[in-house]
Amino acid sequence: MRVQCILCDAVYELDDTSLEAKRLRNKPLQTYMCPTCHERITAKTKRRRGHAPEHKRAPGQSH
Ligand SMILES: [Zn+2]
Repeated sequence: MRVQCILCDAVYELDDTSLEAKRLRNKPLQTYMCPTCHERITAKTKRRRGHAPEHKRAPGQSH
């Protein structure tokens, strides 16, 4: 089956019998991410520490 990466729009041909193809067929809403983008996202997530997260904000002035 053919899948398209949601991030870079690259089209990949997945083996119909592969686990990933089966998974995507069972859940059509699940989007495919190519290994390159997946790696990029993973690296980004790992690097995120140190950058001030949004939820660090004080929860308002009310008390
Ligand atoms: Zn991609």
